[in-house]
Amino acid sequence: MSKKITAALTTFALLAAVSVTQAQAQDSVVNLYSARHYSTDEALYSGFTKATGIKINRVDADDAGILARLKAEGAASPADVILLVDAARLYRGEVDGLFQPIQSKTLNEAIPTNLRSKPEADGGISWFGFSTRARVIVYNKVKVNKEDVDTYEELGDPKNKGKLCIRSGSHPYNLSLFGAVTEHLGEQKTEEWLKGMVANLARSPKGGDTDQIKAVASGECDIAVTNSYYLARLMRSSKPEEVAVANKVGVVFPNQQSWGTHMNIAGGAVAKYAKNQANAVKFLEYLASPEAQNYFANGNNEWPAAKGVTIANPALKAMTGNAPFKSETIHISAVGANTTKVQQMLDRVGFK
Ligand code: FE
Repeated sequence: MSKKITAALTTFALLAAVSVTQAQAQDSVVNLYSARHYSTDEALYSGFTKATGIKINRVDADDAGILARLKAEGAASPADVILLVDAARLYRGEVDGLFQPIQSKTLNEAIPTNLRSKPEADGGISWFGFSTRARVIVYNKVKVNKEDVDTYEELGDPKNKGKLCIRSGSHPYNLSLFGAVTEHLGEQKTEEWLKGMVANLARSPKGGDTDQIKAVASGECDIAVTNSYYLARLMRSSKPEEVAVANKVGVVFPNQQSWGTHMNIAGGAVAKYAKNQANAVKFLEYLASPEAQNYFANGNNEWPAAKGVTIANPALKAMTGNAPFKSETIHISAVGANTTKVQQMLDRVGFK
């Protein structure tokens, strides 16, 4: 064998070795940026690795931090798969071009059409919802009649003057709720409603959702708005004082007679520059499986997004009286699309 051929064969062997290593890397790892930080999610991740042999490298940050990091890293980003906890933020990631379209029959079949992004030009989907949370109203059971707070519209009604506690209007959970209301009522009515809420405030918006529930329990206000899982956490707490807070308040799933309760989502996407793209899709497909849906939704006291999956969660059962409730059915990406409009309305009516 000539030296030249030997050299060429050696080079070929080396190249083959490199591509095998790359293939193994492709087979064995997925890099996850996650805004979820629930201890029960550990079971979710180990379940995936057990089922597929794919190891998960995880970076934890909040939604805004993850989106900023993806932007800063650009094409050099190691991220393959991204988990976020609000529809408007998933929409933001899509619009900012941080995701790549997902082609997956499994996901298309499992996740309802209104709980995922609208299709891209090539039919791919930018993100899917994997769990849902209701934005509910809690109230002082002694001082407030349930009938006076069983719709979102009544939060802005003069009969509830001086009673309302709510976190900042600009928080994504409220931007998403107000974006949904805009979709249901139109801009003009929504702006009047927001103005009515400002007039009804018991105090200037501050704190998180749990603080609003506590403010109702302490008597600082009579009515508050919260994501359902914050109330479920208090209900399931090992601290008696937190269970006492939950016991003091009533909860309503608003708008049962009209368009249904506003539901937000936690969801996932594949990063635009994913190097382990196939593994990223596998991971999202795993999240839609009944086993993973249980971990995913139950880990934060939420409802599964995948069709036909139910979970046994005592707090959620207690909250709904173990009965089904009516959820809104608008396409969840509309919520993100209305964000800018909503922010302008908030500025005009002075909703902090
Ligand atoms: Fe939250």
